[in-house]
Amino acid sequence: MAPPCVHDGGHSAVGRYLRGPGRLRFVLVCDACGAERGDVDSLAYRPNPRPYANHPAELVARALGVEPARAGRIRLAALLCDIDAGGVGRGAPPPGAQRGDAGWPGL
Ligand SMILES: [Zn+2]
Repeated sequence: MAPPCVHDGGHSAVGRYLRGPGRLRFVLVCDACGAERGDVDSLAYRPNPRPYANHPAELVARALGVEPARAGRIRLAALLCDIDAGGVGRGAPPPGAQRGDAGWPGL
C-alpha cells in the first residue's frame, strides 16, 4: 500500500460546479493525489443553456419566417450535413440507393 500523500508537491486550481446551490467553486488540489487543499473563490452561477439556438441554419430559417418546429429540423439537417462532411458518414449508401444496387456492397 502506498504511503499517504504529504501534499508537498505542485498544486493546481480547478473549478467545480455545485448544482444544488448553483455556484462555481474554485479550489486548490494536490497534483499528486487530487485532495482539495484550499478554497480560492466561488461565485453564483446557473447555466442557461440554449443548445444550438445560434446555429446559422436555424437563424436563417427563422429570419425567412420558417415556423420554429421546422427551423429546428433545418438546424438538425445542417448538423447532420456537418457530420457527413467530417467523414462520419463515409461508407453510407449514396442517396437513393436501393438494396441490391451494384457499387455499394453494404446493401
Ligand atoms: Zn496530495
